[in-house]
Formats: sequence, C-alpha cells, structure tokens
Amino acid sequence: MPSRKFADGEVVMGRWPGSVLYYEVQVTSYNDVAHLYTVKYKDGTELALKESDIRSQSSFKHRKSQSSSSSPSRRSSSRSRSRSRSPGRPARGRRRSASQSREHKDDKKKTIQETSLALLVLVLFDDCVSSFNQKPNENNTKRYNGEPESTEKNDTSCIILEQKLKPELEIKRVLEQYSLRSRKDDKKKEEIYSEKKTFVAVKPIEKVPTKTKELEFGGRIGTFMLIFLLPATVFYLLLMCKQDDPSLLNFPPLPELESLWEGRVFGVFLLWFFLQAVFYLLPIGKVVEGLPLSNGRKLQYRINGFYAFILTAAAIGVLLYFQFELHYLYDHFIQFAVSAAAFSLALSIYLYIRSLKAPEEELAPGGNSGYFIYDFFTGHELNPRIGNFDLKYFCELRPGLIGWVVINLAMLLAEMKIHNLSVPSLSMILVNSFQLLYVVDALWNEEAILTTMDITHDGFGFMLAFGDLVWVPFVYSLQAFYLVGHPTTITWPVAATITVLNCIGYYIFRSANSQKNNFRRNPADPKLANLKFIPTATGKGLLVTGWWGFVRHPNYLGDIIMALAWSLPCGFNHILPYFYVIYFICLLVHREARDEHQCKQKYGLAWERYCQRVPYRIFPYIY
Ligand code: NDP
Repeated sequence: MPSRKFADGEVVMGRWPGSVLYYEVQVTSYNDVAHLYTVKYKDGTELALKESDIRSQSSFKHRKSQSSSSSPSRRSSSRSRSRSRSPGRPARGRRRSASQSREHKDDKKKTIQETSLALLVLVLFDDCVSSFNQKPNENNTKRYNGEPESTEKNDTSCIILEQKLKPELEIKRVLEQYSLRSRKDDKKKEEIYSEKKTFVAVKPIEKVPTKTKELEFGGRIGTFMLIFLLPATVFYLLLMCKQDDPSLLNFPPLPELESLWEGRVFGVFLLWFFLQAVFYLLPIGKVVEGLPLSNGRKLQYRINGFYAFILTAAAIGVLLYFQFELHYLYDHFIQFAVSAAAFSLALSIYLYIRSLKAPEEELAPGGNSGYFIYDFFTGHELNPRIGNFDLKYFCELRPGLIGWVVINLAMLLAEMKIHNLSVPSLSMILVNSFQLLYVVDALWNEEAILTTMDITHDGFGFMLAFGDLVWVPFVYSLQAFYLVGHPTTITWPVAATITVLNCIGYYIFRSANSQKNNFRRNPADPKLANLKFIPTATGKGLLVTGWWGFVRHPNYLGDIIMALAWSLPCGFNHILPYFYVIYFICLLVHREARDEHQCKQKYGLAWERYCQRVPYRIFPYIY
C-alpha cells in the first residue's frame, strides 16, 4: 500500500471538486482505508480529497509559471464554463466573435489563484442547481469546462459551495432559484423541483469517517466529570426526596454502603431487562428501515415497542392479581437505582470494548475523538448490534421508558398504602396520567425515534446507557416519588388548568414531531403539500412553514410545556419536583445548540437561510 504523501498540518493546494481550480488548504487528517485526505479551506470548509486532487504548493507555483497549455487549469476558465452553459450561446468549438476572443485572451492571462472566489462560486452554484434539474447521469462539469472524461463529479461541491457563497452574492440568487413558494401554488416550479428531482437526483453525500475534532460536553475533562456527576445527582435527588424536609440546603445524610446493594433487587432488575429483551425479539410488529448510514446502508428495526408495553401491562396486571406488592419498588427505590447504575456502567464498558473492533465506518460521528474518556462517555460505535439485536435502539425506549411508568404506578400504590387512601390523590393521578401519555405516545410513534439525533448521530456509550436505564426511570419519576412522601392537595380548577397546559404542550410536541418525521420519510406526502421548504444541497428540504416555521425546535417547546405541567401538581412548597423542568430546559437548550451546529455543517448556507426565516430557536420572541 503506498504511504501517504502529505502530512497532517501541511499547507497544500486542493482541487475544488467538480472543477479544475485549486485553493490553498491545510491537511487535517488522512483516512487509510478510503485513501482520502481531509483538508480544510481557509473559510473553514472541510472536505475529503483524493491524493490526485492535491498538489504541493511548490509544484503548483512551478506549474503556474509554465506556459504549457496542457495544464488543465489553463484549458478552461470559469467564464468559458458559464458561457457554454447557456443554450442561447454558441456551442463550444464554434468560431468566437472578436470580443469573445479578446475576453478569452484576458482569461488566459489569469491564473487559477487569481480567479475570484465569488465568480467560481457562482459557476459552481450553477452546477449545483443544474444537478437538481439534470438527469442523474449528466455531468455538467465535464460538459462545460472541457475537462478530460476522467474528471470526477463530486456532489459535495454543492455543500461546499453553499458554505463558500457570500450572502450578498447569493441571497438574491437563492431566492430566484429556490423561491419559497408552496409546491401546490407553483406549477412550473413543481416541474423543476418536483420531489422526484429534488430528492432523488442528488445523491446523498458520502461522508468519510474522520476523527471527531470538536469535542462537546466540556471535552475530556467535562465528560470525565459527568461520569461521576450524573450518578451523584441521581442519588442526591433520591435521597433528598426521601427526607421530610427536602429543601435544597438540607443535605441528606449519606446512607451506609451496604444498604445500597441487595442481590435480590439486582436480580429483579436483570429479570426486568431480559423480559423486555424477549419482548423486543418477538416477531410481532413491522420491520422498517432507518435513515441511510454514511456508507449508504440502511439498518432494519422492528417496531414493536407498543406491543412490549401491552405485554408488560398484562404481566403487571397478573402480578397485582396475585397480590404482588408493587410498592416493593418504592421500598427499595434507591437500591434499584444502584442496580441500574451498576448495570449501565458494565454495559458501557462492554460497548466501549466491542467498539474497538468496529470498522471505522460504523463509528459514531460524535464519538470518535481517539480520547478514551470522551469516546467512552459519548459512545464510540453508532449502532452496536448483537446479530439483529440493536442495543441502543432497544435501550432507548424499552427498559427505561416502560420502567418509568411501572415505577410511577408503584408510587401511586405506595401513596395509597402509606396514606391509607382508597383512591390516589389528584396530583398523583395527574402526574401518572401525563407521563403515561408521554410514554405511550413515544412507543406508539416508535418509528419516529429513527430520525432523532440519538439514533443518527450519537454513539452508544455511558451517556445514553446511563441516561436510558438510570436517568429516565429514576429521575423522571421524581414527581411521583415526591408525592408519596409529600402529599399535595390541588383543587379541581387547578387540575383542569394544568391538564389544559399539558394538552397544549402535547399537541405542539406531537404535531411538530410528526410533521418533521413524515416530511423526512416521504417529502412527497400529499398531506404535506401545503408546506414550504428550503431545498438543500443534500437533497433534503428544511421546512419553513407549519410548526418548523414557528420556531426552529417546536418539538422542544412542546416538551418543555409538558415538563412544567408534570411539576405543577406537586405544588410550590419545594423546588425539588421542579428539578425535571429546570434540568430539561438546560438539556434542550444545550441539545438545540448541538443540533444547530450539526445542521449548519450539514446544510451550510441553506441553514443560514432557514435561521433568517425562522429567527427563534425554541421560545418565540424570547429565545
Ligand atoms: P429533533 O427531532 O428535533 O430533530 C432535529 C433534526 O431535525 C435536525 O438535526 C434535522 O435533521 C431536522 N430538522 C431540523 N430543522 C428542520 C426543518 N426545518 N425541517 C425539517 N427537518 C429539520 O431532535 P431530537 O432527537 O433532539 O428530539 C426528538 C424528540 O425527542 C423531541 O421532541 C425532543 O423534545 C424529545 N427529547 C426528549 C428527551 C427527554 O429526555 N424526554 C431528550 C431529548 C429529546 P435532518 O435534517 O438530518 O433530518
């Protein structure tokens, strides 16, 4: 295997994809498998190039001084490309007019480096637009710049192009080319940008797996601390909640270590986990494909979470029928949390070890930094599977999420037993019902999870393993746990108001998620025909009307409104039951920033256009 020619950090001249123009770039990494260099342009655009598309600066300078016409760069200019594109202009090879030959001579004097970036970008933009319009096999670059047949057309030019375009040059152009009219309203545009052409003609950009360079969550130090901070927070909250006075500054005494662990509790936890695994494996429910991976492959997922929920409900019903005391969960709540934490830690270690053998292309875009702690925390492998058993997908919705409603039910029964109630309190009923609705909704719409960041971007490591198996069931049930020890009475009108609030939140959350999910799954869906979108160079559109034109993350807004409705039934005596809503706002604000960053990288200029059209991120007129 030939060794690499250019070193990391070396400044070289990189060929612009689909053109014969070279720009100064810096080599940032090399992929031994794909034999591709990742290079960074001066404006920050990163791109993977073949060695043959890179030249050393010295050789480039040398060529520049040569007069040989064999240089590909001398054979074409951006101007000649753009002229020959127009059907009204003479075809290549026809006699030029005097003014044209003068122009041509002028062009010849120009070197590639002197070519205006803006001009180049406009030409490339034409290529990009035409790639939407042309038949998939046409190669405009070849057609217009007279390059040899071997010249490669790289669709990434569209992406890079978008990042390179200066707003003053392109905004008008984009508006002209991609006028944000509804497909329904504009017959002509419909022909040009019909779903088929817009979404099929442009191939998905093939990403070359590279190292994660931008570290999130405070990098190595931040993730190291989070590994301790997250479990500590869970135990602090649970210990606080058990106190009569759960004021923030009333620190709970540390329990004895032996009291935190009980083999039987761990056994029940394992039984629960493997029961859910059995339900997951049942051949019931449809099998769907996930979004394409970076190598174009699509994984298959069985959608049977709702069936698992029904079977679990039946199993719990049988246990209650046989007088099994479900408040065992309440009595051993902290021990259950310790068991789940120990299990999630063991699972994370297993996941990290197996990820070391995973092929490069199966690593998570966000968890491949090369730093052990960081990759261990964020998750190194994107979709770890044992055969067809997808560990991340399973943990996302089953043991933790279904476990959460079982814990809530246990708290409800514990409240009735401890306070000698014949019916649960109104607060407890509200908390149970709201959260049950949330979980059932997630399971009913299980397919929607396949387009979320957790599945498409984040690897499976400590963050998700702990989050799914410990944080969700034991922290999200804090309100119900709190109500057992701190009975709260609310009136019917207050209960009705809180219910309305929850319904509003749910409506926004559900319709926003469905709108985006349906649009991603089938942009040609006639039900979405009235929605406007900004096309992007990747072939995906960005909705700019409907919920996604209201704020940039309407689903987060709905989720936060619901979170508030879950805390309100606990009254205002303590801040502890409001932990969830406070934490959730921080989580979603941070998550929104991560998502924005990724979308900006994915969609470049189109994302900026979207942000201009929809200026608020989560809260209209506030944030
Ligand atoms: P989202 O469902 O919000 O998806 C974000 C993605 O949507 C983007 O990366 C982009 O992906 C696509 N997108 C963004 N803008 C547009 C647009 N205008 N038009 C079309 N597509 C667009 O991400 P999450 O995974 O963060 O959230 C999913 C749900 O889960 C949310 O409702 C959230 O509230 C909830 N959630 C709940 C948590 C909990 O603990 N309860 C924790 C985290 C999330 P692309 O273009 O690649 O398709």
